[in-house]
Amino acid sequence: PQRGDQSHLEGMNDEQRAAILAPIAAPMKVLAGPGSGKTRVLVGRVTHLINELGVPPSQVRSIHWSPYDRVGVILCITFTNKAAKEMKERLVANVGVENAKAITAGTFHSVAARMLRKDVHALENYGRGNDFVIYDETDTKALLRKILVEKFKEEKKKVDAGMVKGRISAAKSAVDHCVGVPGSRMVRALVDARPNLKFDPGVKNHFAAVYDEYEANLRASNALDFDDLLSATVALLKSSGPVRQHYQQRWRHVLVDEFQDTSLSQYELIRELALPRGQVFVVGDVDQAIYSWRGAEVANIRTKFDDDFFGADTVMLTKNYRSTATIVKAARAVIGESLSRSPLELDAVQPGGKDVAVVATEDEVEEAEFAAREAARAARDGVPLKEIAVLYRTHHQSRPLEEAFVRAGVPHVVIGDTAFYTRKEIKDAVAYLRVLLNPRDSVSLARIINTPPRKIGPGTLEKLTTWSDSLPWDDGMPQPLGAALLRRTWANPDQGLEEDDVLPSAKEMGLGAAAHKSVSNFCRLMRDLEVVMEGSTPGELIEAVVKSTGFKEYLIDQENGDERWGFIKELISIANEPSATDGMDSLEPEDDATAPATPATGEKGLMDFLEGVALLMSAETRSEDAQADAVKLMTMHVAKGLEFDTVFITGCEDKLIPMESFQKDGREEMDEEVRLFYVGITRAKRKLFLCRSAKRTRFGLTTYPDPSPFLAVIRDALVGGGAAKPPAIPVPTDPRTWPRTA
Ligand code: ATP
Ligand code: MG
Repeated sequence: PQRGDQSHLEGMNDEQRAAILAPIAAPMKVLAGPGSGKTRVLVGRVTHLINELGVPPSQVRSIHWSPYDRVGVILCITFTNKAAKEMKERLVANVGVENAKAITAGTFHSVAARMLRKDVHALENYGRGNDFVIYDETDTKALLRKILVEKFKEEKKKVDAGMVKGRISAAKSAVDHCVGVPGSRMVRALVDARPNLKFDPGVKNHFAAVYDEYEANLRASNALDFDDLLSATVALLKSSGPVRQHYQQRWRHVLVDEFQDTSLSQYELIRELALPRGQVFVVGDVDQAIYSWRGAEVANIRTKFDDDFFGADTVMLTKNYRSTATIVKAARAVIGESLSRSPLELDAVQPGGKDVAVVATEDEVEEAEFAAREAARAARDGVPLKEIAVLYRTHHQSRPLEEAFVRAGVPHVVIGDTAFYTRKEIKDAVAYLRVLLNPRDSVSLARIINTPPRKIGPGTLEKLTTWSDSLPWDDGMPQPLGAALLRRTWANPDQGLEEDDVLPSAKEMGLGAAAHKSVSNFCRLMRDLEVVMEGSTPGELIEAVVKSTGFKEYLIDQENGDERWGFIKELISIANEPSATDGMDSLEPEDDATAPATPATGEKGLMDFLEGVALLMSAETRSEDAQADAVKLMTMHVAKGLEFDTVFITGCEDKLIPMESFQKDGREEMDEEVRLFYVGITRAKRKLFLCRSAKRTRFGLTTYPDPSPFLAVIRDALVGGGAAKPPAIPVPTDPRTWPRTA
């Protein structure tokens, strides 16, 4: 492709062209319904910048010119890493491999993590080093459980770490600059933001104390949770002039997809990066906002963007290119139920067909069998498997579906399934790598210090903690045990210790001789692994861990041992694949140079791998799964932005779609359920099945749900209107399958 190549404009309608060709210096907002080409326009805009306006995708970073010293100037934020990868592929076709390579595309979390890797040490009083770890949900919950039991003497059985974590997360996303804010202020902000959370004063104080303890532990462990990734990056940009200038000068063009689902801190991040130049291009759809429960603020797209970015222009797209007219009609009827809907129009470009089917089955097993059978039939009729999706409201609905697909022999993959990375053996193996990289990581150290068992029991652990607490550490904080045990200086002859003395004497550490021996064996083991780490890829390092710890024998001895060992082998093969952080390019060119067919070795490779694992836990799945030629099973939330030839939405029942717990909460939550179903329906290009079953067993409880009220809405829209024609919905033979009118 060269300048003057206009292929990215081919077939675009007038509004789409207007958005793509808008003046370079003006902030631009594209508002439009599903399937109207927002994502396509965003890609077109990047293409236009490079091919037409001659924006060099990368620039020389400093006056000391070197051909390798160039940085990319275009930043594209997408909602998932998979979306980032797809965008890159489309850009490769439009602007060529070299140019596409220079574009940074990734999620908010992956971009933020990369920025912090470089600069978090510059954030004052934050106490984190660039080798920080990212704690996922499992880690943060383990940490909270430990805090609540050990520090707050709560009964082990009664501890609800998930609930506490939810509130911490809600508080962090409700507060504008939460870095370093004490718990007492955080709790006030939380109460303001969520008035329907019932908090009496005692609970408030307790929450504040737990919050402070949680933050202190993260800090001592050199760890950040997912919320911190964003808030720390914003704080860094706000507080450090040089860092801010670096990124502002660097990313001259900032583009954001799915802007309606940005949170407070994500919005702040965009504003910090793009405000001075105003060369920012955002696309989104108010009617598809489905993440307010996770802190997303529709106000960002509705009003804040226009308030902050002076002279912002808005383009609206109104034609749906994705779906047939019948599907669009059904979707419009559903979103019509929302009170807060935008006045956006949506007209189908494709003619209608007989393409919305409502299917009723006896129970979820029959429903799953129906989906598997129809998917197989569609495949026989020539629909590629990866163009078929089965959607549901909650993750646990995937189980019977998976089983049915296995029985029917139809290739399938569950997207957004984090079960693999939360398995105990996987978390244990990964914990070894994390401690090697960052000995301060207390959650990971607690996992591995006696796994496999090596005679370091709870008693010894307590004595060790007493010992490390007594050691000096910065800002009067107790020294993290991992830092005390594994820091390299213990073995340094300059410290008066012999090369062989891994640790101070048993007496000094308050241990008995046997316990001291076990602990120093562990330290020696870790020190040897550290040497291995220098020259190995992450996969090789896991193999070394397994070998030197006897991990394989330990696993095989357990129940389902072979299966567990199988998971470790899979982890090794994942770790041997190049660049686990797909879709997110290195921010710096020197990293690009090593970007590669094999994973990097040493700390760098390990960091990339661990970051990839941690970020996957935040959203989605291994991206190569998503590319596989198989039917995709996922929640409607995860399906946002995607499109498929044939879509099944299962569990179209009252109290599931819309979800029960949300119905109670009030109109706003109900509206979000409406929007979610709207997102689900509009994923279908050609054929849509809406499935419900008469009986459903959830959490061991059998219910006989009514059909989703949305089914009647759709039926009225498609059949009603006094049209004398027979139902547009082809009823799959059995009249029972019709939803009863409400
Ligand atoms: P969503 O809100 O679901 O993310 P979107 O607005 O981002 O949807 P796209 O995914 O960009 O929509 O486009 C939907 C489909 O319509 C894609 O297959 C895209 O290639 C196609 N499309 C968009 N605009 C045109 C056009 N002008 N001509 C032909 N096809 C188009
Ligand atoms: Mg899109």
